Amino acid sequence: MATIVQKYGGTSVGNPERIKNVARRVLETQRAGNSVVVIVSAMSGVTDGLIKLAREVSEEPVEREMDVLLATGEQTTIALLAMAVTAMGGKAVSCTGAQAGIVTDDVHSKARIHNITPGEVNRMLDDGNIVVVAGFQGITSSGRITTLGRGGSDLTAIALAAAIKADLCQIFTDVDGVYTADPRLVPDARKIPVISYEEMLEMASSGSKVMQSRSVEFANKFGVPFEVRNSMNNNPGTLVTMENSSMESVVIRGVSLEKDQAKITITAIPDQPGNAAQVLKAIGDANLNIDMIIQNTSREGEARISFTLHKSDLKKAQAALGAAAKSISDKVQITAQDGIAKVSAVGIGMRSHSGVAAQMFGALGEAGINIDMISTSEIKIAVIVDEKDQENAVRTVHRAFRLHEAP
Ligand code: ADP
Ligand code: ASP
Ligand code: MG
Repeated sequence: MATIVQKYGGTSVGNPERIKNVARRVLETQRAGNSVVVIVSAMSGVTDGLIKLAREVSEEPVEREMDVLLATGEQTTIALLAMAVTAMGGKAVSCTGAQAGIVTDDVHSKARIHNITPGEVNRMLDDGNIVVVAGFQGITSSGRITTLGRGGSDLTAIALAAAIKADLCQIFTDVDGVYTADPRLVPDARKIPVISYEEMLEMASSGSKVMQSRSVEFANKFGVPFEVRNSMNNNPGTLVTMENSSMESVVIRGVSLEKDQAKITITAIPDQPGNAAQVLKAIGDANLNIDMIIQNTSREGEARISFTLHKSDLKKAQAALGAAAKSISDKVQITAQDGIAKVSAVGIGMRSHSGVAAQMFGALGEAGINIDMISTSEIKIAVIVDEKDQENAVRTVHRAFRLHEAP
């Protein structure tokens, strides 16, 4: 008998009919002779609705209470799914993150899982139940409810699959798998049959929200292969697993888009050791994540640093930098710009192929799309473009690498 972990995202449990669809699917899986643990998200729109509600009563909601609030979204779904399974003649029991033994650190809204004690889940499985676990939530060792960051139900599924040593982990969503680009943006994007953890991680962390990036990081670290599939059909999906040599023949696996980016440029920084660190420390101290960083060659003893970040962090970053800049020199100036986006091409085949960047920049140039910033890693080339060009840029890069054709 195999143990299977299945995760169903927000759209897949978005209304009572869909919850019944999930109930039928998990029952079928169990009746085929498997032990089944199901992780569910909040019904689509519920988490966003709760965030909006919180902002209506408080400009800056207390983080502890925000997590208490957000955790109710998933708690609604587990109860409904367990009821639906039972109504169909099955045996199911719901479990919050805490009841499933998911212990996290105490960083509210983006907690990390410390450990999972799955004793209760195993016991309920042994009793013949389909165990329905709330995604996205955990509990601190002192008993506070936490959440795992947006999209965090993916992480619950993968971490729980590792903890109970599941034979199979399946992430069910509203598309057939991981595509060469977001199929909603690029109509001729193709489903990728197999992708390495590393590529999936780069795509997820550069805007392909089909998987939460931290969940892929976890899967990579603990060697948990998983499938991404569609909850509305039985089509084969995408297997995310360890890299193998046959994967290198494809140069670019996929293209992703990160919208809503912003850029801060700091000019006239005295070009002395330690100043760049001081500037960036101010950002770190404010708990802000920055992405691309570029420092220009100094002219007349002055340096210039630009970096990108999410536009929702722009105001906080400007405030944090203002103070740091003053302590360095009165001449330091800070300018901010939003309305930009990041387009990334990802593939492990890049390691063994040259000319990939030139091909990407050439295609963008021919399409009349201006590149503002560039950053590269071993398996990724990313560019910043104006947001008016963002979708055209994704389609252009996708076509330039002929990702619409079978490899
Ligand atoms: P869920 O609610 O099931 O967790 P998400 O909305 O988080 O689903 O993720 C699925 C969505 O991710 C798809 O509807 C699709 O628009 C988007 N997406 C972005 N990039 C990709 C990609 N490369 N492949 C597949 N889907 C993608
Ligand atoms: N409900 C949470 C969110 O919307 C977690 C998830 O769906 O994975 O981000
Ligand atoms: Mg998701």
